[in-house]
Amino acid sequence: MSRAEQLDTVTDTTAGTVERHATTGTFESTDPATGAVVGVFPVHDAQAVQETVERARPAARLWADLGFDGRRQRLAAYRGHLARRMHELADLVHRENGKPRADAILEITLTIDHLTWAGAHARRTLGRRRVRAGMLAADHAAYLEYQPLGVVGVIGPWNYPVFTPMGSIAYALAAGNAVVFKPSEHTPAVGAWLAAAWRAAVPDVADAFQVVTGNGSTGAALCRAGVGKLAFTGSAPTGRRVMAACAETLTPVLMELGGKDAMIVDDDADVAAAADAAVWGAMSNAGQTCIGIERVYATAPVYDRFVAEVTERVRGLRPSSDDEAAYGPMTMAAQADVVRRHVDDATASGGRAATGGTVDGVLVAPTVLLDVPEESAAVQEETFGPTLTITRVRDAEEALERTNATSYGLAGAVFSRSRVKAMDLARRMRSGMTSVNSVLTFASVPALPFGGVGESGFGRIHGEDGLKEFTRAKAITRRRFRLPVDLTSFSRPPAAVDALARVVGVVHGRHR
Ligand code: NAD
Repeated sequence: MSRAEQLDTVTDTTAGTVERHATTGTFESTDPATGAVVGVFPVHDAQAVQETVERARPAARLWADLGFDGRRQRLAAYRGHLARRMHELADLVHRENGKPRADAILEITLTIDHLTWAGAHARRTLGRRRVRAGMLAADHAAYLEYQPLGVVGVIGPWNYPVFTPMGSIAYALAAGNAVVFKPSEHTPAVGAWLAAAWRAAVPDVADAFQVVTGNGSTGAALCRAGVGKLAFTGSAPTGRRVMAACAETLTPVLMELGGKDAMIVDDDADVAAAADAAVWGAMSNAGQTCIGIERVYATAPVYDRFVAEVTERVRGLRPSSDDEAAYGPMTMAAQADVVRRHVDDATASGGRAATGGTVDGVLVAPTVLLDVPEESAAVQEETFGPTLTITRVRDAEEALERTNATSYGLAGAVFSRSRVKAMDLARRMRSGMTSVNSVLTFASVPALPFGGVGESGFGRIHGEDGLKEFTRAKAITRRRFRLPVDLTSFSRPPAAVDALARVVGVVHGRHR
């Protein structure tokens, strides 16, 4: 069959027309609750991905040339479009990912907030500024600016199909880049919707944000397509494969990977508030949250009360696919198997389920695990399900030690009424983000950077760091006048360096 004959004719009923591309077939996205087909999408092959990136290159130049004001205006038009069609998008997220519509609305609202911040702060963060030239270049003006990278590739997961990829896309666009986005094969309809919304809201630079769909091979092709940077959000094992593929072309990478986040509940904590936050942090979105709370270390004086408060709240949660449910089905059936394995391992190795512990198809009962050995999978590996281990510890120091004894380091939480102690614990937690007396809050503060350490990855989205992540620093000096003596010329008099040495001796020599 010729390439022309392979041209895809699939249209996505949810997002309008998907562009015609050469493909290696199609795939379906389905509703995790019912199995109903949400959309049929092309599997874009390496050539289709390359063509998309090539189409993005002139768009990147056009987009960059619009400057901060032109981009801010168009980012505002985009977020206006998202806000006006929020319910349509929330419904699609609900159908394709399984989460309750109310949670989808929250996710879209967070995204709009980040789009606003990124557009408003790009100039101040990245625009040209003068810096001190220093003693040796006193006759020069020195300038710093952060320039876009061109086309940025974004590969995303399915768990927050709007908020997570837009954490890279919004900041990359605000920094002046074009974006080619490969959404998860479990949420292609949401990805296609986001790009179609861009085309509708920003028709004059429509190719500045495009989508390619498919599985891992489409993602791998994007890694090899000569993008200026590859922003990856997903699991650590896939992250390693992405880095290896990007290494072939020395393409820089941003790695937003998994987590095993802990909450520390100290002696003086507001136990009811800590329990309420732990339950939301662990169970919302069916626990499929990279920064979800998966472990709690509660000190001996509060442990029993905390377990009782959590267990009571958890017993009131009902997983289902209706709008009144606390959370929906697991987005992927395979993830339910991971949860089952972790719960079985925990109970087989001496732990017990205070409540829950059952998996019914893609519906996982909210589960609280007690007395689970630290070396078990439920404590060491990312579970990504509505489960929580609670462990009794001597004091906050032991809690911190155990919190930090994992290869992951994405985020975490501390509950204590002592501001000084809580801030100290938060700073010493080996993670990129920590919230005190709440959970997940840092993600809703656009000015704060988001990213991890260790197996949770490197690089940052959100905030000023997130804008700079999608740029390269450019340094410029401009000679303003000529000094009588030029130290960097073969015509310099020998005495000039002696004089310089004397000055350096006087200025710096007194420091011991
Ligand atoms: P995943 O690693 O299975 O897939 C992520 C993306 O990578 C998908 O789009 C997939 O198609 C693509 N991919 C697969 N193989 C590839 C390859 N060889 N080359 C290029 N791309 C490839 O992850 P997932 O199951 O979609 O998402 C869940 C994971 O994401 C969890 O570990 C979660 O903690 C993590 N996550 C992290 C953050 C964060 O910001 N740190 C946010 C959300 C999710």
